[in-house]
Amino acid sequence: MFSITGISALSVLVASSVSVTANARSADDARARKFIAEHETRIRPLEKAVSLAWWNANVSGKDEDFKVKEQAQNKLDEALADRERFAELKAVKQLKLRDRLLARQMDVLYLLYLEKQVDPDLLKKITAKAIAIEQAFNVFRARVDGREMTDSEVRKLLKESKDSAQRKAVWEASKAVGPGVEKDLKELVGLRNEAARKLGFKDYHVMQLFLNEQTQEPVLRLFDQLDDLTREPFRRAKAGIDAKLAMNCGISVDELRPWHYHDPFFQESPAVFDTDLDAVYAGVDILKLCKDYYAGIGLPIDDVIARSDLYEKPGKSPHAFCTDIDREGDVRVLANIVPNEYWMNTMLHELGHAVYSSKNIPRTVPYVLRIEAHILTTEGVAMMFERPAKSADWLQKMGVTVPDPKGFYETGATMQRNQLLIFSRWCQVMLRFEKELYSNPDQDLNKLWWDLVEKYQRVKRPQGRNAPDYASKIHVVVTPAYYHNYMMGQLFASQVHHTIARRVLRTAPDKALYVGHTGVGEFMKKRVLAPAKTMPWNALTKYATGEELNPKAFAADFEGK
Ligand SMILES: [Zn+2]
Repeated sequence: MFSITGISALSVLVASSVSVTANARSADDARARKFIAEHETRIRPLEKAVSLAWWNANVSGKDEDFKVKEQAQNKLDEALADRERFAELKAVKQLKLRDRLLARQMDVLYLLYLEKQVDPDLLKKITAKAIAIEQAFNVFRARVDGREMTDSEVRKLLKESKDSAQRKAVWEASKAVGPGVEKDLKELVGLRNEAARKLGFKDYHVMQLFLNEQTQEPVLRLFDQLDDLTREPFRRAKAGIDAKLAMNCGISVDELRPWHYHDPFFQESPAVFDTDLDAVYAGVDILKLCKDYYAGIGLPIDDVIARSDLYEKPGKSPHAFCTDIDREGDVRVLANIVPNEYWMNTMLHELGHAVYSSKNIPRTVPYVLRIEAHILTTEGVAMMFERPAKSADWLQKMGVTVPDPKGFYETGATMQRNQLLIFSRWCQVMLRFEKELYSNPDQDLNKLWWDLVEKYQRVKRPQGRNAPDYASKIHVVVTPAYYHNYMMGQLFASQVHHTIARRVLRTAPDKALYVGHTGVGEFMKKRVLAPAKTMPWNALTKYATGEELNPKAFAADFEGK
């Protein structure tokens, strides 16, 4: 009896302490819910205003539109910088929240607010500086012999000219934006570092990675692995490319300089093989092909196309991007389509981003998490979808006549393989340059840039050139410490593609074409798109592919296995 009473008294005690904890926990959850609800009310309209203003400014290129964008950004930054809100956020984040989704939202919000916890005047200076440089890029056109060239014209000439002197002149003209923005860029780096140090980080690069749920060491380890994996295959591939480039211009391989490659940074595979992929695309309706392709795999994008701005016009940004305006399905692409392989590739890429947006993320995912898991996962999806642009099989399945399918196939396959190798070496330069740029901005950056280019890309620096060529890469300004994510995105692209080949199409990865297979869309929606930011990037990678991010599938792709 006694013992029974004792036991029941004890269980009452235990039960009541459990329920006290439960009550405290649900009070904690309620506090988190309240914070998130208030966040949405305050921040959501400001985020939408920034997206819209950014879109408008890039479409028009007008000073007043850039001013509106700057003001909208400042308003958002000020709201996120609120000290009291951040204190409450930190307090709630430390509680043991019962609801996993709430905890995840608090983690994501913490990083979002943390970035803005710098002195508001310093933040404004950073934003103004970045926008001024971005605008200089947008309106910059290379000038050769007094004539302005569009970005597409520069690319076309670098692709086609056999005249070294002409190539050199155009290449140098395309770099002229660098000296114009160098001073501003160095000031911007200084301001960014100042902001990072005030928040307790060593420098801006370290902070930027932390804010994106990464750390320098494992990222560098992954890049060292990639360096080892790609060094020899790259050297061999480049020897073949160099021989053709030299022959085309009637010079020796030793005389090759950066302007002999087919884009201003040697980040893409030069089109030096027998079949010219552009010839096939000259008569292709790129937009229609994109619509048909995405619809056929169960991921239609017609509504995105309808809202987009897709062709060249004066003042407009010469680049391409996709933006999700409101996380409610207003998704748009800015592009400058001309009928060639580059724009086929770019459109497939940007529409890949469009697919991975609030268009396909269920509305049941909370607003805070209704975005891609990470920049590397959205780049990965975009890169996975851009790959067929170089495939004759793909074109034929899409109903396009390819006059020389065998030639196109061989050229396309070689370019694809070269592209992956060239891109990975280029990303090595960007990651290592940016890390150094922020850890030691006072060093000789002109020299550092060319040291890295020579080491990783094996491109000889122009003799006697002492110019800020790093400053002609817009990404250093507008998407700092971001570029390594493109490379990690390629790893993600290969890994997801291999999974689709194995699980959905049940074929070898190099045989796996998605055309007409709605199963691809189903897999993508369920395993890659729907979780959105409810999972960190590596958890999503494992959820989608069964493994954490690694270079195995990527290596298999460029080895042509
Ligand atoms: Zn992209």
